[in-house]
Amino acid sequence: MTITEIYSKFNACTSVCTDTRKLKPDCIYFALKGDNFDGNKFVSTALDGGAKYCVIDDVNAIVNDQCILVEDVLTTLQALATLHREHINIPIIALTGSNGKTTTKELINVVLSTTYKVKATIGNLNNHIGVPLTLLSFTKDLDYGIVEMGANHQKEIEFLCNIAKPDYGLITNFGKAHLEGFGSVQGVIKGKAELYDFIKQNDKTAFINTEDYEQIKQIDNYTNVITFGSNSKNDCTVSFNDANPFVTLTYKDKKIESQLIGSYNFGNIAVAIAIGQYFKVPTKQIKTSIENYQPKNNRSEIIKKGTTQIILDAYNANPTSMLAALKNLKQLNTTSKLLFLGDMFELGAEAEKEHQVIVDFIELNFENNIFLIGKNFQKTTTSSKIKKFKKFEDIKPDFETLQLENATVLIKGSRGMALERILNLF
Ligand code: ATP
Ligand code: MG
Repeated sequence: MTITEIYSKFNACTSVCTDTRKLKPDCIYFALKGDNFDGNKFVSTALDGGAKYCVIDDVNAIVNDQCILVEDVLTTLQALATLHREHINIPIIALTGSNGKTTTKELINVVLSTTYKVKATIGNLNNHIGVPLTLLSFTKDLDYGIVEMGANHQKEIEFLCNIAKPDYGLITNFGKAHLEGFGSVQGVIKGKAELYDFIKQNDKTAFINTEDYEQIKQIDNYTNVITFGSNSKNDCTVSFNDANPFVTLTYKDKKIESQLIGSYNFGNIAVAIAIGQYFKVPTKQIKTSIENYQPKNNRSEIIKKGTTQIILDAYNANPTSMLAALKNLKQLNTTSKLLFLGDMFELGAEAEKEHQVIVDFIELNFENNIFLIGKNFQKTTTSSKIKKFKKFEDIKPDFETLQLENATVLIKGSRGMALERILNLF
């Protein structure tokens, strides 16, 4: 069956499914393979659940004529998304970066949604499967589509750009994330800048924060650039006021009070404002949509337990975001501060050094109540004021002795550490 024929089958369905546990009737099911599973084994389950078609790549999985046998399910999914993207022909805004992609994507989404019909990546579906699925969820009637692109190795963003063909591109920042796959920070810059390469080569438009030197360098001498930041020469001027703990900023003489903590979120908000301004969203709508936005899913959330203020940032961590969170905590006007930090993953050969950098920063800037959890932190050299634990369960006895009244607690670690479990101890 040709891709055009598969496309007409896709158009006869109401949704796309890759997991039979989340199946909806009349969907098209893609039998993807992972390290531990083979979607071809679930074709009967999909059909029983009401799937209209099943795209499979194992001849033995054919049940009836609703099964479409292809060479490779994943490449078919990607080809279908490429075709669909061309077909819907809507303006697409793509974003990548080391940190803050999902937050920024959600901010852009709330700003543009005040005025336009917009759809964005759901959750964190930002890889070689997530981006095609995101594109396949877009429809012709949308004014804009927003696509988050993640990468942990070279050429991944280039690959995703060739599917999504963005009209607008932005990079939230270049930081120390996924060093294992990228090799070095220079590798990260090269990898993420593949988005700018696509934008330049195809004469599309880039949004650039002029305070980020690396971004300007990457897009040097290119004309289709919309600049933003605190300098009044920018196309969009946004000034940082403070982050105590929530970020406030000034835009067109209006004070915007966000519900996002950490000065690092300023750049994330600023780009959403710049995009709102560029697409002529009224200033009042920009302000209220940003003020109403609340972070979710353990991303820099503030949680109150009695008089204790918890900064729950347990969604993820890498050296850049960890340091940003610590700097933020340091400048808060609170007397009692507690740190629960978990290991940062995917750092490869840099792991030992990067964990030590975090420890050295803590030694200089925090006095006590410092709890480090995980095998990587275990290997660091620390003074007696820092307590280290191999695993989460080991902190319980110490936790019970803590003075938590009027304290501010930072909880941050890589996803695999699942440090949100600490909340149950309060
Ligand atoms: P992922 O790679 O998992 O998709 P992401 O890039 O989408 O992550 P977010 O989910 O928006 O990032 O944010 C994750 C965490 O990164 C936040 O909770 C915060 O600690 C940190 N963070 C967000 N923005 C920045 C930034 N601009 N600079 C440094 N750290 C940031
Ligand atoms: Mg994300």
